[in-house]
Amino acid sequence: MERGASAARIRFAEFAFGIYNGCRVSDLRGLRESYSERSNGGGDEGCARLKGAIRGFGWKRLRLPYWKGNARWSFSCLLVSSTAFSSWPNPLGAVSELRANSQMNLTDNFGRSIHDLRISITDRCNYKCVYCRTGTNGAAYAELPFAEYLRIARILVGLGITKIRLTGGEPLLRKGVVEFVRDLAKLRTSEGKKPEIALTTNGHLLAGIAQPLKDAGLDRVTVSMDAVDPERFARITRVPNGYESVLAGVRAARQAGLDPVKINCVLLRGFNEDQIIPFGMFAREERVVVRFIEFMPLEEDRVWTPEIVVTLEEIVSRMSEYLPLEEIAHERSETARRYRFSDGVGEIGIIAPVSHPFCGHCSRIRITSDGKLRTCLFSVWDHDLHELMRRGATDDRLVEFIVEVVERKEERHHIGEPGFVPASRTMVHIGG
Ligand code: SAM
Repeated sequence: MERGASAARIRFAEFAFGIYNGCRVSDLRGLRESYSERSNGGGDEGCARLKGAIRGFGWKRLRLPYWKGNARWSFSCLLVSSTAFSSWPNPLGAVSELRANSQMNLTDNFGRSIHDLRISITDRCNYKCVYCRTGTNGAAYAELPFAEYLRIARILVGLGITKIRLTGGEPLLRKGVVEFVRDLAKLRTSEGKKPEIALTTNGHLLAGIAQPLKDAGLDRVTVSMDAVDPERFARITRVPNGYESVLAGVRAARQAGLDPVKINCVLLRGFNEDQIIPFGMFAREERVVVRFIEFMPLEEDRVWTPEIVVTLEEIVSRMSEYLPLEEIAHERSETARRYRFSDGVGEIGIIAPVSHPFCGHCSRIRITSDGKLRTCLFSVWDHDLHELMRRGATDDRLVEFIVEVVERKEERHHIGEPGFVPASRTMVHIGG
């Protein structure tokens, strides 16, 4: 036993003790902060108690991570052997109290705070967009009852999720989606607020359901459209006469007060990049925010090449031939760079995961339609939350699982790098 260990070391040893006793890491962060705060006064009492309790056991030196704000630090600490700990009563009277009071927020090992959840409620789709699907495959994975997505969402909101986006497949194919939104809208974040609820849809069925969704608590909608020319639209989606339905859906969404309505357009070189300027006009006329997305290697047919990607710079340059653009501020974790037209009318966004990756600010996790937790679009595996639920896991067990999985969220994607390993699922089966 090392004599005269500093109070700080003892505090870290308490932190490590928590790990050995299965405390959750975010509790431990709270524990550590709490002891730091108290170190001016009462903190020493806890240290003394621990110091007394460990007398007589051998120390071991460890390097352990901890968080300061969003930054990950590590420190060297002294730790008593786990076998010694296992037979001990908890020497920290304060642990359970702190656990009960601590504010849990999901954070990964790179210090990113996770507050954005996407839930795919089906991987069926009524469109067969050429850059997304083969056109022959239907649903590949199961769908869960809404009650199970709701349970997952409730737990995740308790862990700091503040935004929930429903997606798919095509989410409006699921009967009961309005009731599901109504149930999600009853959840409360730690600040007592309703989580922000958004939807990504191809818009085909939106016109008839936009108002009920808004009334149920939906805040925002994003409609995917890859052309504003009806014929081109049909060629891309491989569904005849879809354009009129989608346009009606966009207008109904605006009328229902879903604000802002965003339009997502994936650009493919040689296929629809001539739609850039028409989409600029569309944004201004329809008063929607059009966001261009760089094509990512997440398609069923594996046709992606770097040359097909129409990059951010090209989009800005092409749009500027129509009207100059001014970049405007965007949130750190926002995927899109935002631009407004120089005359102040209309806004566009560009989501550039290929040419300007934003993984360092990623705040997202995803639940697939069959209840797998994915920490990155490009994950090469997913984590079977639903299997745990099926086996009767308690909420505490699910929290433990989620916290551990999220901590190991991938640092970044590797699109375009040698040895890139494709994601274990394609976009339609993940939920975009
Ligand atoms: N059916 C809904 C829709 O059409 O919006 C939701 C699912 S869809 C997979 C979600 C979004 O992902 C759409 O905006 C779609 O254009 C986009 N997407 C699909 N494959 C993509 C890819 N390989 N790269 C970039 N975006 C893609």
